[in-house]
Amino acid sequence: MTTKKEEKRILILGAGFGGLTCANLLRKNLSPQHRITIIDKNTHFIMGIVNLWILNGSRTLKESRIDLKRLEDKGIEFLNEEIINIDTSKKIVTTNLNKELVYDYLIISLGAEYQLAQIQGFSHNGGFNLYDPDEIPKLRTEILCLKKGRITICITNIPYKCPPAPYEASLLINDILVKNGTRRSIEVDIYTPTPIALPVAGPKTSQDIVSLLSNHSINFHPLHKLKKVSDDHILEFENGKKINYDLLIGIPPHKVPTAIRNSGLLKENESWINVDKFTLRTSHENVFAIGDVTEIKVNPTSTIPKAGIFAEGQAKIVSQQIIDEINSNRSTNNPRFDGKGFCFMEVGNKNAGYISADFYNVDGPLTSFETPSEKSFKNKIDFVESRIYDWLLNV
Ligand SMILES: Cc1cc2nc3c(=O)[nH]c(=O)nc-3n(C[C@H](O)[C@H](O)[C@H](O)COP(=O)(O)OP(=O)(O)OC[C@H]3O[C@@H](n4cnc5c(N)ncnc54)[C@H](O)[C@@H]3O)c2cc1C
Repeated sequence: MTTKKEEKRILILGAGFGGLTCANLLRKNLSPQHRITIIDKNTHFIMGIVNLWILNGSRTLKESRIDLKRLEDKGIEFLNEEIINIDTSKKIVTTNLNKELVYDYLIISLGAEYQLAQIQGFSHNGGFNLYDPDEIPKLRTEILCLKKGRITICITNIPYKCPPAPYEASLLINDILVKNGTRRSIEVDIYTPTPIALPVAGPKTSQDIVSLLSNHSINFHPLHKLKKVSDDHILEFENGKKINYDLLIGIPPHKVPTAIRNSGLLKENESWINVDKFTLRTSHENVFAIGDVTEIKVNPTSTIPKAGIFAEGQAKIVSQQIIDEINSNRSTNNPRFDGKGFCFMEVGNKNAGYISADFYNVDGPLTSFETPSEKSFKNKIDFVESRIYDWLLNV
């Protein structure tokens, strides 16, 4: 006589890049008796990459949002609530509606929160947050209305999501201005606190990016950490420099979500959740953390970048471990995250460069940059659309 396997409850916190990958993989590979619940404070999913397409006018904000309730059609429970506490000793997650959810397995994929309030005067003086999709339509209108002056893009701190994104944004803004006939009378400047453009990718790839900026007359300013924005539209940097701007775009300081900090999941001196670099397990039983909410050290000076491609790669490894455990499947060889990833960096005019990275390479992280092409641009569109289809549209 066969006995019915024990029902397991898997909670996934956060329906973003990592959480949606896990929910779908688990549902496809576990029998229906096992409950998969994904919780998010937002009702809709929007992929960060799409912010830049809203900026350049190729998508609207409205058509880019996808209702997370669609997950229910796949047999994945979706709870639209805010997580306020995680108790790993009792294996309970509490939401803002005082719901207490018990889990057998927990996947934390809550991403990062933004902290623009840390930069004095930024929002008060009309600064735009490039990473907030709701601000992009107005930003686009202001770029189109500006006839002359200076557009400044400031990376306010590290780490931040998708390290090439601010450079990509500057190139797309260049493209918008060229098409709008205003490029000659508008300067585009990009400021970063780091000494090179992409410290995570190393000096060679950073130089390739700076050359690309320079070819499009975009001024690159390393070692500029924004201190405050004053009421007369002046940016003040920690190195003492002051410059004026007409339109200010910021990449906000990032921090670990409040729910994580309040749950005591960080040890002293930790800013993000530390996990095993191969299995993504935390020090708590059956608790995994993936994506932007983690800090995975590659060597004493670098960490795995905060990017969707890594959240997705980690989600696959975590899901496989849970599937193997629940299905008592010993045939799969220890799933391990390999530290590999890639991204497409759009440069305007329907072209994109391609950056690939291998962070666990035995002789140290390896990255390379492929010159922009139409093919990589098409691959980028396919990258986005295939994921949205698999995660939410394909029932
Ligand atoms: C402009 C831009 C361009 C980008 N381009 C690329 C790119 O080309 N390639 C790439 O790989 N990555 C890119 N990224 C980065 C990518 O979007 C993130 O790295 C990725 O989304 C991280 O996935 P995640 O699952 O860790 O977190 P997220 O996708 O951020 O998901 C976290 C989820 O948790 C939810 N949440 C947070 N706190 C709570 C709470 N207390 N209760 C309930 N829900 C909560 C949030 O609402 C969110 O839905 C880009 C990002 C931006 C902003």
